Amino acid sequence: MSNALKRQILRHIEATGPMSIAEYTHICMSDPSHGYYQQQNPIGRTGDFITAPEISQMFGELIGIWCIEAWRQMGEPEAFNLIELGPGRGILMADLLRAAQSTPKFLEAATVTLVESSPKMQELQRKKLGDQCTWTSDISELPAGPSIVIANEFLDVLPFRQYVKHQSQWVERAVGANAEFSDLEFTIGSGFIDSRLLPEGAEKEPDGAVFEIAPAREAIMQMVAEHVKEHGGTTLFIDYGHTASGFGDTFQAVLKHEFTDPLVAPGKADLTNHVDFFPLIKVAKATGCHTFRPLSQGEFLLALGLLERAGNLGHGEDEATQARLKSEAERLALPGQMGDLFKCLAFASTKMALLPFAIDD
Ligand code: SAH
Repeated sequence: MSNALKRQILRHIEATGPMSIAEYTHICMSDPSHGYYQQQNPIGRTGDFITAPEISQMFGELIGIWCIEAWRQMGEPEAFNLIELGPGRGILMADLLRAAQSTPKFLEAATVTLVESSPKMQELQRKKLGDQCTWTSDISELPAGPSIVIANEFLDVLPFRQYVKHQSQWVERAVGANAEFSDLEFTIGSGFIDSRLLPEGAEKEPDGAVFEIAPAREAIMQMVAEHVKEHGGTTLFIDYGHTASGFGDTFQAVLKHEFTDPLVAPGKADLTNHVDFFPLIKVAKATGCHTFRPLSQGEFLLALGLLERAGNLGHGEDEATQARLKSEAERLALPGQMGDLFKCLAFASTKMALLPFAIDD
C-alpha cells in the first residue's frame, strides 16, 4: 500500500538515514496533514479499535464513583479540576458526569478540563459534552488547583523506543528503507542505550532480543506528578501493559480491528506498544507522590462494584439486555479478555486511603 505519508517518510530517510521508532510513530500519529489522529474517527465499531468506555457505560460510571471517592479523600475541596488526558470520543467523561449526578457537591466543585491534541477529536468531544468542559491541546498547560487526573488508553499512544541485542550489544532499532527506497523496513540505528536503564538479566538475553523504553511517557508522567504534588490531587491511569519491566517486542499496529504490520500503512493504522508501568511508578515516587500497588482492570472494576452495577442496570429488563450487560462486564473484567492485560495505576499528592487501592510506600 502506498500513501502520501509513506512517501514523505521514505524521502526523509533517503535524505537523513533511518529514524528511531519514536520519531516514526510520532510522525505516523501526529503529522498535521496525514497523521492518524487527524482522521475523522479512529475509535469505535466503525473505526479501528474499541476501548473500554466504548464497550460499556459501566466503565465510565465506575470511574465516576472512584473520582467521587478520590475527591472525598482529598477533603472535598470546594473547587477542583477534573482532568482527562486523551479523551477519545468523550464517552468516558459523559458516563462519569452522569454517574456523579448522585453527588451534586462533587459536580458543583468540578471544573472539567480535557487535554486533547487532535482538533478532530476535540470536535467530537465538543459534540458529546458541549459546554460542560474546557479544552487544552497541551499537557504542559494543566490548570492550577487541586486536581483529579484520569486517562484511559492514553499512555500507549505516546512514542517509545526499541533497543535490540545485536552482536552482543544493545543498539537502537530503527525504521529504514529497502535499496530502492520504495518500502520501509526495520534496521539497526546508531543509538546505544545507557546500560543502567536495562532490566536485570540483559546480558543473558540472546541476539535479537528487544527492550522498550518510553522517555516521552516518563516526561508526561513527571509533568502530571509535579502538578499533583504542587497543587494536591490524585491520578488514575488505565492502559494495557505490565508492571515489571522485561524484554520483548510489543510494537503493534491495528487497522479495522485487525493486527497489521506497523510499517505497511503509516498514518492509517493505530500504532502503540504495551505500557511498562514500572518506570512510571518510579517517576511518580521520585516526584514525592504516594503511589499505590497497581491493580488489574478486573480487580479494580470488580472492587468498585461492576457486578452490582450490571445487576442494577439489568433489573426488570428483558433477557437480551441482561445478556448484553453480562457480556460487557465479562469483556471488561475477565482474565484473557481486558481484565488482566489492562492495569490501573494510581498515585496521589499525599498518603490517603484511596479505595480500592492499597498504599504501597
Ligand atoms: N481515552 C479514550 C481514547 C483513547 S485513544 C478512550 O478510552 O476511548 C487516545 C486519545 O489520546 C485520542 O483522543 C488522541 O487524540 C489523544 N492524544 C494522542 N496523543 C496526545 C497528546 N500528546 N496529548 C493529548 N492527547 C493526545
